[in-house]
Amino acid sequence: MDFALTEEQVAIFDMARAFGAEEIAPHARAWEEAGTIPKDLWPKLGALGFGGLYVSEVSGGAGLTRLDATLVFEALSMACPSVAAFLSIHNMCARMIDSFGSDEQKARLLPPALAMDKVLSYCLTEPGSGSDAAALKTRAERTNEGYSLTGTKAFISGGGYSDAYIVMARTGADGPRGISAFLVEDGTPGLSFGGLEDKMGWRSQPTRQVQLDACAIPAANLLGEEGKGFRYAMMGLDGGRLNIAACSLGAAQAALDATLAYMGERKAFGQSLDRFQALQFRLADAEIELQAARIFLRQAAWKLDTQAPDATKFCAMAKKFVTEAGSRVADQCLQLHGGYGYLADYGIEKIVRDLRVHQILEGTNEIMRLIVARQMIEARG
Ligand SMILES: Cc1cc2nc3c(=O)[nH]c(=O)nc-3n(C[C@H](O)[C@H](O)[C@H](O)COP(=O)(O)OP(=O)(O)OC[C@H]3O[C@@H](n4cnc5c(N)ncnc54)[C@H](O)[C@@H]3O)c2cc1C
Repeated sequence: MDFALTEEQVAIFDMARAFGAEEIAPHARAWEEAGTIPKDLWPKLGALGFGGLYVSEVSGGAGLTRLDATLVFEALSMACPSVAAFLSIHNMCARMIDSFGSDEQKARLLPPALAMDKVLSYCLTEPGSGSDAAALKTRAERTNEGYSLTGTKAFISGGGYSDAYIVMARTGADGPRGISAFLVEDGTPGLSFGGLEDKMGWRSQPTRQVQLDACAIPAANLLGEEGKGFRYAMMGLDGGRLNIAACSLGAAQAALDATLAYMGERKAFGQSLDRFQALQFRLADAEIELQAARIFLRQAAWKLDTQAPDATKFCAMAKKFVTEAGSRVADQCLQLHGGYGYLADYGIEKIVRDLRVHQILEGTNEIMRLIVARQMIEARG
């Protein structure tokens, strides 16, 4: 058993961290205020191979492992978890196209997605179904030319901003087996968007409803086979959960690094904050939490990479554990900054706000527990 990163993995982490420090961190607050991420950021990430981190090399992707990808998301989140998490969603979609798309779809859709000239969004949630995603109601009716989609998708990251949407819609009976996955390109007649959602965090990412009103798409935009869309959507999520956990980890680490520096400078009662043993213990607890989270996350990624039978359970456990540890640490960092932690200039309050949603999306942390408990009970027999 070897817990060390390889030289190549260290290089991947360092490259992502340097990119984040130069190209993202200086602008993260302004983008949050603007409520959008400039589109010209994405091709720069595409040039580094980050548009298809775990898209296979034969398809033109970077062909990295899931563990490698977590390093990218951890490093980029040290600059801004909202930007990094948006990249994760795009990568989830690119991987779905690579895994389940036809040769024609891969040839048509992947080159601009990998270069990030086109960014992709993932549309599963609806106003009436989130955790119970298989209850979705958006319908896709067959037509002579292809399909006509009607329904509403809620909370879509990149809604009204992205260039194409992977939409899960019902082609058959109730339940998961009646669901198919489609690619809907921006500008398709019948595709429109709700107003910009006003959110606690992830404010640089535009979130809107995606509305489909007899939205006509060609048959060539059905991804894979009819009736398998829910399975495709769920397969993307194991990796998505690792990425979101990595985003919590990186941002919480950035908060802790800033806190360690701050405590050496800030004085109270005639000495720097880091001389108070009670506060030293808090620093130590935060360090222990993040190191434990990092090991757990990387083990789960390794399970997914090696296709271990319990990979889904480990991805769920890591997502729950790391996102909660990340939020606890970020909150402690805010506290250790005193009143300054509450001010936007110090960067900590943004991290606290951005990380909160990681306990809710990619499957809530209650659903993560459900997956874990179900598998424990099944294994008991
Ligand atoms: C900022 C943001 C961005 C998002 N981006 C996307 C996106 O790009 N694409 C997309 O498809 N979705 C997206 N989502 C939606 C997200 O995935 C859902 O919000 C999430 O799955 C929860 O669904 P819900 O909000 O309907 O909550 P509900 O499912 O209504 O859950 C409400 C509460 O009940 C709990 N609960 C529900 N069922 C159970 C159960 N069986 N056992 C125990 N507890 C349960 C939940 O954990 C939660 O605490 C986004 C959400 C947010 C906030």
